[in-house]
Amino acid sequence: MNIPYADVIGDPIAQSKSPLIHGFWLDALELSGDYRRAHVKPDDLAAYIAGRRADPDWRGCNVTMPHKAAVMDLVADPGDIRGTIGAMNTIVRQPDGELIGTNTDAAGFYAPLAEIDLQGAPVAVVGAGGAARAVLFALARANVGPVTIFNRSPLKAMGLLATFGLKGDVVALDAELPPAALLVNASSLGMKGQPPLDLDLSPLPADAIVYDLVYSPLQTGLLKSAAARGLDCVDGLDMLIGQAALAFELFFGAAPPEGRDDELRALLTA
Ligand code: NAP
Repeated sequence: MNIPYADVIGDPIAQSKSPLIHGFWLDALELSGDYRRAHVKPDDLAAYIAGRRADPDWRGCNVTMPHKAAVMDLVADPGDIRGTIGAMNTIVRQPDGELIGTNTDAAGFYAPLAEIDLQGAPVAVVGAGGAARAVLFALARANVGPVTIFNRSPLKAMGLLATFGLKGDVVALDAELPPAALLVNASSLGMKGQPPLDLDLSPLPADAIVYDLVYSPLQTGLLKSAAARGLDCVDGLDMLIGQAALAFELFFGAAPPEGRDDELRALLTA
């Protein structure tokens, strides 16, 4: 038996920060293990999964674009990820070779909010894509109050409210914000190469939290405006590290080291 390893798969894959995160934790814990980048094209996904399934050293993989939906046809789904979040970002190989798919994005998103009571609180979410599905899944489980979704394509967003059993509204991107306790940007707006997200934050109460999933750049225009208003901010690295932490434990059987997040964040932003 060689050293245990896991991969992150996608097409393209060079941009993935997952090898840095998992490599940092493996080193910090002095664990014998490896975490690799694997460039897998859509036509090669089934062969990749079949090949790795046979390798007892392979612990599993993280899955990024464009495979998060297609991989659901190739692995077991005991947690009904298909019927809820609708995308898998983590595959774990069991000792008998069975592959189980899961999604750590929802829990990773929620981790920085875990100490905050959002029950019944009004929330605003921008976006209705894959990341928004994980966000809405987590918010529904936290029993938040009405959710206002801002999205370019309203029908998609209405479907998500229904899917997650949430009460609320769907509005255009230029609509006025409600007085939400939490504002989440789960769209691509504000990301490098994308249009900015222009929202007037003045309707938010002084104790509102503004959470931007975008991590490139880390200090988005939205977070700069929120900080200028003195609002609490959560950036996209918190979710990125949170979802990776859950996958790391599933792959390597140990929780990431505590108290090292500042070092990891410095590494990721260098
Ligand atoms: P996605 O499935 O492609 O969804 C993109 C969303 O952004 C959709 O709601 C889309 O609106 C909207 N959008 C894109 N371009 C737009 C434009 N020009 N004008 C208006 N709306 C636009 O992408 P995703 O996977 O959800 O990712 C969304 C963002 O979250 C990305 O920046 C990604 O990096 C980030 N993310 C971060 C983490 C983390 O760990 N921090 C995890 C996952 C994703 P329509 O519905 O109208 O198309």
